Amino acid sequence: MLVVKKFWAASPKPFRWIFPCMLLAFLLISWQPVQKKFVVVIDPGHGGKDPGAEASNTKKYDHEKDICLKVSIKLADYLAERLPNTKVILTRSSDKFLSLEERVFIANAAKANIFLSIHCNSNPIRSIHGTQLHLHDKASKESNFLAKSLDAEFNKKARRNSKGLQDSRSRGHDLYVLQYSEMPAVLVEIGFLSNQEEEKYLNSDHGQAVIASAMFRAVRTYKAHYKM
Ligand SMILES: [Zn+2]
Repeated sequence: MLVVKKFWAASPKPFRWIFPCMLLAFLLISWQPVQKKFVVVIDPGHGGKDPGAEASNTKKYDHEKDICLKVSIKLADYLAERLPNTKVILTRSSDKFLSLEERVFIANAAKANIFLSIHCNSNPIRSIHGTQLHLHDKASKESNFLAKSLDAEFNKKARRNSKGLQDSRSRGHDLYVLQYSEMPAVLVEIGFLSNQEEEKYLNSDHGQAVIASAMFRAVRTYKAHYKM
């Protein structure tokens, strides 16, 4: 206090207010309303030693792990650029192996608002194609809303031919990343690499951008619906 008094007494009159004014300006600039960020964790399936569904022709096409990563990075960019007050976390941003436990740990530790795991499908019947959405439990309102928003966006592009929603009951088994994540979570199968036409589409920059945009719009719908 003494220092302040001395400064006050010693300062010529016009300068007395400089220091308090600067302090006030600093406080005003640094004060911002505390608004919680909307946290999205995107999990590109597989990686490293685990290629996922393999490319039919490695000279022409990528394996599932690489397609998932490319689409996930596109989605992360769209969200970071176009959705205000959003924090995006990728469980992996390079070709590295991650266990399922590590993926869930990242999402739970980040206290994510939503978790999206991105995969490509495969089936011995090569005519089967389309997107598919997996959730743990259809009774979870938020997960169900998120999956339905994704389904609606995929269906707007007729050729995506969404196969709709499946939960652990209709699937007959649990999926680790959905079972243990503590937030609304959807595993998105973005198409079948076993289908010739879809493999080509999923490998194209255009196809990847269309899919990432559809997912972006679904996340935006979710955020607006829950006013986050
Ligand atoms: Zn997969």
